[in-house]
Amino acid sequence: MNADQDPKPGTIAEQTLDPQNWARFRKLGHRALDDLIDYLQTVDERPVWQSLPPAAKNLFAEPLAKKGLGDDAVYEQVKQHVLPYPTGNIHPRFWSWVGGTGTPTQLIADMVMSTMNSCGLGFDESAASHVELQLLDWLKALLDYPLDASGLLVSGGSMANLVGLAVARTAQAPYDARDTGVDSHQHARLIYYTSSEAHSCIRKGIELLGLGSQSLRTIPVLDDYSMDVSALRRAIASDRAAGRQPACIVATSGTVNTGASDSLCELADIAEQEKLWLHVDGAFGACVRLSSRFRELAAGLERADSVAFDLHKWLYVQYNCGAVLVRGDSPHKATFSVLPAYLRKLDRGLASGPVNFSEYGVQLSRSFHALRAWMALRSAGSQRYAEQIEQNIDQARYLSNLVDDHKELERLAPTAMNIVNFRYRAEGLDESQLNDLNAELLMRLHEDGVAAPSATELNGCFSIRVANTNHRSRRADFDALVAGAVRIGRELASRC
Ligand SMILES: *Cc1c(COP(=O)(O)O)cnc(C)c1O
Repeated sequence: MNADQDPKPGTIAEQTLDPQNWARFRKLGHRALDDLIDYLQTVDERPVWQSLPPAAKNLFAEPLAKKGLGDDAVYEQVKQHVLPYPTGNIHPRFWSWVGGTGTPTQLIADMVMSTMNSCGLGFDESAASHVELQLLDWLKALLDYPLDASGLLVSGGSMANLVGLAVARTAQAPYDARDTGVDSHQHARLIYYTSSEAHSCIRKGIELLGLGSQSLRTIPVLDDYSMDVSALRRAIASDRAAGRQPACIVATSGTVNTGASDSLCELADIAEQEKLWLHVDGAFGACVRLSSRFRELAAGLERADSVAFDLHKWLYVQYNCGAVLVRGDSPHKATFSVLPAYLRKLDRGLASGPVNFSEYGVQLSRSFHALRAWMALRSAGSQRYAEQIEQNIDQARYLSNLVDDHKELERLAPTAMNIVNFRYRAEGLDESQLNDLNAELLMRLHEDGVAAPSATELNGCFSIRVANTNHRSRRADFDALVAGAVRIGRELASRC
């Protein structure tokens, strides 16, 4: 179509995606909010998990129609086919992976952040920029980490770890790694050390940074699943002897399998002696620092050069939200800063905000998810958060005792923090039969809607793994888990 055939400007009605009828939209909004609050209030009356029926799966297979259904009809579909089938981490008997619960306060935060729809740039002079900076300062204080550290909210622990590992690379390479990239033919290979219990995102990060997984040394763990520090010392010495360049220790505070913590104080000493970067993956474990009863589990965290942790796990923030803190501001900025003219701060006006967050990480546009954590923390106060974390650890100990007291159950790892590993056992079954039985038992727990632990493998044993970052769980929920596991275990054993 050429310009002559275009309709004359002003002859067609302009459109918007706003509602044509705001009163009707308001009614729907109020109804939806009522439904959602009812839903949260009654979450424990539903099974922890249920599978999606064909009707829902059919809906999710439909192509996008040209003509829209309108907000009311779509909301009805969501109510019928989406809401009943959550992952389950809002339920008091959910303990899979490290699934945080979230809090109702943040439902309101979600509406506010969605309404404001800020861009999360930081150099936009907006409440969002200042809220995020304040939240980061609160987090440093809660973790007892140096207040002059730089920080950034990111999508989660994986991204937070990637940022920490990237800063370590820039800080430790004796050449300009941003300029030349990592070239292990031209230069000594940079070596990162982590334990065999480290989360898989560490290896992913190393690979993404171009270091190659050959740059990741996996150090064995002791019986308590913490990094074997003497093995680490030997590995560093042997890498130096071979002409490689030890660069970074990646410690874990709260391993994903068992909740074990590496000895951060000893690792900080080694990092100091060997001039290595100390990065801590404290995805959930860093949060014990809030508790005066349990903060020793992460003693030495304040000495780390960088710390990655999740708010969506043990700070009960809605998905998704993680954070990274880096000692001193300059190594962090030196890793990520690229400032084209269109992203530069101005002296006054909209673009005169406090900080350019894109200089501290991978993302540029980001949601205003800081508001969720900000509202939740401000509403409950730090003391309640500390108590909630302590309650989760006490509950894990309670469950450990239930398991230890039951002769058909066997605990498979020490309960160092908030994670319990166990299995059902029966006379006369070999290891492979026990593994099969316990896998079946776990799937039955899910399918019967009893409880939702997850699985892992410890020393070749299939383990039922209960990770408790759930503020809705009660001791009675752990009683129910044990009763359910024993009931299903007996049923399965009788068929072996
Ligand atoms: C969950 C977890 C991660 C990954 O965090 P995400 O938020 O899922 O990306 C990394 N390390 C540990 C120890 C974790 O528990």
